[in-house]
Amino acid sequence: MKPETACIHAARDRSHSTGAVAVPIYQSATFAHPGVGHSTGYDYSRTQNPTREHVENLLAALEGGVSASAHASGMAAISTLMELFSPGDEIIATDDLYGGSIRLFDHVSTKNGVALRYVDTSDLSAIEAAITKATKAIFIETPTNPMMKITDIAGVKALTGERDILLIVDNTFLTPYFFNPILLGADIVIHSGTKYLAGHNDTLAGFLVIKSAEIADRLHFLKNTMGGVLSPFDAFLVARGIKTLAIRMERAQQNAMIIAQWLKEQPKVTAVHYPGLPLHPAYELSRRQARGFGAMISFSTDSVETAQNILNKTELILFAESLGGVETLVTYPVTQTHSYVPEAERMKRGIDDKLLRLSVGIEAAEDIIGDLEMAMK
Ligand SMILES: *Cc1c(COP(=O)(O)O)cnc(C)c1O
Repeated sequence: MKPETACIHAARDRSHSTGAVAVPIYQSATFAHPGVGHSTGYDYSRTQNPTREHVENLLAALEGGVSASAHASGMAAISTLMELFSPGDEIIATDDLYGGSIRLFDHVSTKNGVALRYVDTSDLSAIEAAITKATKAIFIETPTNPMMKITDIAGVKALTGERDILLIVDNTFLTPYFFNPILLGADIVIHSGTKYLAGHNDTLAGFLVIKSAEIADRLHFLKNTMGGVLSPFDAFLVARGIKTLAIRMERAQQNAMIIAQWLKEQPKVTAVHYPGLPLHPAYELSRRQARGFGAMISFSTDSVETAQNILNKTELILFAESLGGVETLVTYPVTQTHSYVPEAERMKRGIDDKLLRLSVGIEAAEDIIGDLEMAMK
């Protein structure tokens, strides 16, 4: 089944006696037992709920995992995942991660005795140099946020080989429609379902998709134990969003390509970071390992004034955190997502007060460009 078809049909439950085409919202906290020693398969909704199970099955099918667990947000998923680790364990992580992941690692995981080593994972030799006997996982985001660096997942897998190191990939930016890290050797794939999967900026959700049954069992145990599960209604909204994932991703990517090319020609724009531009350093790698480049762009402007004019004056493009919805959003990493990254570290990575990040939506590209043009005048 092609990804477009899988988004719609992969987890359809053919046994529904009603023939319902949309997954029903099982808004029930608990489930009655037919008798002693019998269960319908559902006991209590924290443990499992049929609507949540549907969207978990859908994610597992789309990513090529054996199983998936659905959480109340992306951060709930990542927090649950971190409970796989114990004091003394080391994790190598991409240095240009989603800000919330850095906050969790630096303020919670570190307190719990798990050491994080941040490296530029787009450089395989930097990963290799950071591996020690205590390394238990490599945590990768690709493309990175906001600098759009790309990590070679098969290359990392070749490095870790048979060692007992979990390869974890946050695939929020590309989605299973464009990229399937498990097929390249990843053990666990993370999604903030809040973004492209739900797709309409109206729901929080998070997923872990798992390659092996053994780790899946541990994560489902942790999910039930920690309790930050996805509600039936939100599971329904994500399943509904995924039905249109393919056409939204195609359209947003098409727009992103047009806008990235337009930005590149603007005198007030000094750099454009988009993996779909042939001048991007990992353009070839992106084409090799993924089916698309996504629709996230970051760019630098000639002055703080130009950057702030875009934030203040655009009318269609909304100045808001988050990404992956139908509407185009612009963020200011320096004051929003990366505000608590120390200044020296931010500067080193090029995250300054002239850098903006665009999550390109599915409007007409010419309207988005017109809005940027008006704001930059
Ligand atoms: C948003 C995001 C998260 C966190 O997800 P929430 O649903 O906001 O908790 C994690 N990783 C990436 C790449 C994200 O963009």
